[in-house]
Amino acid sequence: MPIYEYRCDTCGVQNEHLQKMSDAALTVCPSCGSQSYGKVLTAAGFQLKGSGWYVTDFKNSGGAPACGSGGCGSGGCA
Ligand SMILES: [Zn+2]
Repeated sequence: MPIYEYRCDTCGVQNEHLQKMSDAALTVCPSCGSQSYGKVLTAAGFQLKGSGWYVTDFKNSGGAPACGSGGCGSGGCA
C-alpha cells in the first residue's frame, strides 16, 4: 500500500497517510480543518511505488508459466 504525503497550504502541516490506491484523496486538513489539504508528490514516493509494481509483475510472470513452456504438452492448457 503506497504512502502519500499530504500538506496543508493554510497552516503548513505535513503528514503521511497510508492509503489504498482506490481510496479517495483527503482534502480536509486534520490540523486546522481547511480544505487546502492535498497530496505532495515526492520523488521517493514514485520510486517506492515503481519498484513495488515491478516486483509484483515479476513474481506473477514467474509463478504462472505461460502456455507452451512444456507444462501443457498434454493439451489440458487450452
Ligand atoms: Zn491546515
